[in-house]
Amino acid sequence: MVSVYEDHPGDALRINSPIPHPVPHLGTQPFPTTIAEAAPQPNGAGPGTEAFRYWVAADALSRAGQTWASSVPAGTQWHSTVGGALTANLAAGNDLNAFYDRRGLWFFRRTVAGLTVAACESPEVVEHEPGHAILDVLRPRLFNTATAETAALHEAFGDITATSKTFSAAAASTYPRSTAPIRRSSTTPPPGSTRTRSCGAATGEGLALIRRCFD
Ligand SMILES: [Zn+2]
Repeated sequence: MVSVYEDHPGDALRINSPIPHPVPHLGTQPFPTTIAEAAPQPNGAGPGTEAFRYWVAADALSRAGQTWASSVPAGTQWHSTVGGALTANLAAGNDLNAFYDRRGLWFFRRTVAGLTVAACESPEVVEHEPGHAILDVLRPRLFNTATAETAALHEAFGDITATSKTFSAAAASTYPRSTAPIRRSSTTPPPGSTRTRSCGAATGEGLALIRRCFD
């Protein structure tokens, strides 16, 4: 098992608690990934450590691939310049950014007011970026089209990839497993409430609609 965040880490005042997940497998077809940095031992290292960031990223990359694996034609491969596996670089430089560029995935980090913000430590950021790569596989002409609409579609696809697991029915039934206190407004329903399940159902319907578009 590895220790990971299941969704966004939270802010500095209310960091979510990690949860245990099985050790992820990155080589799964049709969207195999790899991580440029060496794999640390899955020893349960906590937030802020390089080992924790590695396993958060690995878990999220695996989840992103699983989201679309059953929806794409047999033999689907990454864009030709990516290579056999999409490589994620977890320490790409000093910035608050992450992107996909047909060579790989690049996750930056920066220390702000004493707090190091590493893009690869957020599963939602990590799941978003392979969303770009997967849409690029399905509709390559959208990648370099100079219109705001295609850029927006790319961002939306990445966000759907990032949130689909969170709002899946299985996740909604147990979500969240964090033990940290979470401030909620009086209008925010508790976990597993009707609204949460509705989000899960709506997201599932949205995914089904998108999958039909690619049939
Ligand atoms: Zn994006």
